[in-house]
Parts: sequence; C-alpha cells; structure tokens
Amino acid sequence: MSSSGKAGLSKSLILTGMQCPKALYLAKNPPAFEFPPQPHVEAKFQTGNQVGVLAQQLFPGGTEVPFDGLSVTEQIAQTRQLIDAGELVIYEASFAFETIFVKVDILVKDGDAWQIHEVKMGTSVKEVNCDDVAIQYYVLANCGLTISSAYLVHINNGYERQGEINVQQLFVGEDVTDAALERQAGLPELIACLRTTLTGSEPDIDIGPHCNDPYECDFIPYCWQHIPKNSIFDLKGRGIKKFDYYNKGILKLEDLSLENLNKAQRNQVEATLNQQDSINRVGVKEFLDTLWYPLCHLDFETFDTPIPPFDGTRPYQKIPFQYSLHIQTRAGAEPLHTEYLVEPGNDPRRELAERLVAEIPADACVLTYNQAFEKSVLRDLAELFPVLADALLVRLENVRDLMVPFRKRDVYRWQMRGSYSIKAVLPALVPDLSYDGMDVADGMAAMRAYHEMCALKPGVELDRLRAAMLEYCCLDTLAMVRILGELENLVTRRA
Ligand code: SF4
Repeated sequence: MSSSGKAGLSKSLILTGMQCPKALYLAKNPPAFEFPPQPHVEAKFQTGNQVGVLAQQLFPGGTEVPFDGLSVTEQIAQTRQLIDAGELVIYEASFAFETIFVKVDILVKDGDAWQIHEVKMGTSVKEVNCDDVAIQYYVLANCGLTISSAYLVHINNGYERQGEINVQQLFVGEDVTDAALERQAGLPELIACLRTTLTGSEPDIDIGPHCNDPYECDFIPYCWQHIPKNSIFDLKGRGIKKFDYYNKGILKLEDLSLENLNKAQRNQVEATLNQQDSINRVGVKEFLDTLWYPLCHLDFETFDTPIPPFDGTRPYQKIPFQYSLHIQTRAGAEPLHTEYLVEPGNDPRRELAERLVAEIPADACVLTYNQAFEKSVLRDLAELFPVLADALLVRLENVRDLMVPFRKRDVYRWQMRGSYSIKAVLPALVPDLSYDGMDVADGMAAMRAYHEMCALKPGVELDRLRAAMLEYCCLDTLAMVRILGELENLVTRRA
C-alpha cells in the first residue's frame, strides 16, 4: 500500500484484473497452494526481450531507462530527467500515476507531443493490446504528457529474411490511437473497482471461459481443483458448450445426456464410463494396406522464433533441427535407427535435408504421426533447395499417417480419453513404453532444449542436454514402431 493508501498497480496487474479480478487478487495475495512448475515462462520472457531490443532500432539513438539496478522511483526520475534534457527517443520510459506504474517500450518525441510505441511478439493487433496501450496513454496523459498518437508494433509474418534483419520490414506499427482514446473514459472506474477487489477477501468468482481468454490464467491449477477426472472438460471435439453444462451443475461425464453429443463424443463417454475398448479390424486392415516396406518411421523436431534466424526464413516458420528415423525392411522386423541433431549455432536445414535424402530410400513408405507437420517441413526444404527438391518431393509423396486409424476411431482404448495424439495412444496401446520422467518429454520442451543448447558452451551440460534431446526424438519414432506392430497384431489376432 502506498502513502496515498492506494494499492500499487502495474499495467500488467490491471490487465490481469481485467481478465479476472480474482486473478489480480491472487497475484497480490498468493494462496497457500503448490503450483506445478511452468518451464516455458522464462523462455518466452527472453524472446520478448530480444524482440523489444530489436524494435528499438526502429527509432535508433534513444536512451534506455533500465529495469535492473534502479528502483521504480529512480526509473521514473531518470525518465523525467531525460524528458527535461530534450531526449527525443526513450526506451522503457517509466511513469506512475496514482501508484499505477507503466513502462513504455519506445517513447518518441513528436513536435511538442509524444508517440507511444508498444512492441508485441504477436503478428496482429488484439483487443488486449489496445487495453495495454490505453493504460499507458492514461498514465502518461495524467503525468502531464501530450500524446499525439499510439502504435502497436508487432511482427510482420510476411517478412522473409535475406542477410541482416531489416527491422523496418520485420515490424509493422499499427495506429491504435482511437482504440486507446475510446478506453480512457472507462479506466478510472475500472481501476477503482480493481483497487476495491484488493481491499477485500478472495473474490468469489467461478471458473469460466475467462480462465483462458485472452491468456491462460496462472491460477488454473488452484481454481480448477474441484474438477474431477473424466469431467465434461475432458470431452473432445466441437459443438458442445462445456460451461453451459458446468453452470447447470453437470460436471461428470456420467451426468451428460448422450443425445446432445456427436458420435465420437458419445463413444468417448460410453467407452470411459464402461472402460470399454473398440476396434474395427476392417478399417485397420484398410489402413495397413496403404503402407509398404521398406518403411521409415520419421519424426522431426522444429523450433520457431519471431525473429527469423536464417536467410530464407519467415517469422514463426517451423525450422527443423532434429529428426529420428526407424527403418523397417518388413513387418515386424527389428528396426534400424538413425538420427540427426544439429550442432549448436549452425543452420540445420541443408545438412538435415541431405541426410534425409541419403537415409530414406526413394521407394520407402514414410510413416509419420500427424502428417501435415512433417509434410510442411519437407515441402519447405524442397522449396529452399532446388537441387534436392525432386528427391524430397518423392519422400513427401510417400508420406503416410499413422494417426489415421486412431482419428477414425478404428482403434479406440478408453484410456485415450477422446484424444488421438501419440501421447494418448502410446500408453494405451504400449504401456511399457513411456515419456514419463524424461528430461525432454514433448515438442515444446524439445524446442526449449534447442534454444538452451545454442546458448551452452561445450561441456558436460551440453552433452547431457543433447543426449536428452536424442532420447526424446528417438522415443517418438520407436513409439511409432511399437504402435504399428500393435496394429498389425490386432488384424492378425482373432476377434
Ligand atoms: S483460473 Fe479462472 S477463475 Fe481462477 S483466477 Fe484465473 S481466470 Fe479467475
């Protein structure tokens, strides 16, 4: 609480409170609850910082008011000194009005007035971005600055890198002045309400669509504790308003009326409640008949970043840095395993494409799990390397998708809980093979590991990380070998 008796608020706390006042309260008054770790937060924060620093080049020659080493009061004082000294561009300019603290990514002098430039990693302007800029506008205007215009600077996903990053092309600045102005009248009341929230006890706000809109709330593990396993929220597929049921007190799958569900959802509910599996051997056989040997189980790991890392890449383009390949010469044969993982800092694409073409026979069936992803990677590589294009396109033509019989529900195990992702299918079909306890255990973790790998110096830690990355990707294709084996067993086994 400040000397004015008002609780300190930052822009991000106000935005949190706009999503849900209870989230604001919990952010200020953390509950006695053990939250699971959120490993992705730090990586996202670092990427945001890189984007912010790069965007400063849109207005070069400015002075930054640092976060580190200065108190909030010192940051505000330093900003004031820079303004008084006639600085034309200030990065991270800091202001407070009635204990609401904001930092403006880039503040640019515009005659006697100032422009606000808020930098975001997204590729379009969202409503929440306009709220964000509106709060900055509110605080700056109340600090006595005249604001001529406000911009949301976001990533231009049509930009393709050639040589050094062209910041003028990488970023797009959209004028959101009107949106910021429209919000000014409502802000005093909104802020007063949020302050009132903080003076009381924990708000009695139930879960709802707001828990994930516009952002996934940090307090979901706490607020959703009462949701049991096998609840309506586990129901997969569209066409059902889960919160309508929840608000009527219908929480468990067994309380749902089946006639309101589509066929796949009905099957999911019945299978879960009766712990019942189903199989359509004809469908599985039809799928198996589309495959042939030699058969290569292929899985890529990719990363994407808002700042294209190599020539010919676009923002958020998926760039392959690793693959695992299990090759079988006939059904049930012991597979041969090969793999690729780029050395830190290198552009992986050429080497990876050449290795793929060398290791996957031109006449092999290329089995993937969720083919759209692997196909798009192969297509991008073929476009990039004309000399390898024909060879890559032959492999692309030969891609088949192991997900098909699960997506079509030709094979369904009640433990899959309506999902046909490999993470759901593997433990249901091959319980002795598991991702549990692995250092790298999913695609997002692999992407984070890639960035971590590039930042590490040679040594034990790098070796350990690379081993974990290889182990994870290898398990993905080994899982496919075992799942395919199970499918083959299912059609030869008697009903
Ligand atoms: S989980 Fe939902 S109800 Fe709980 S604080 Fe977050 S948004 Fe509010």
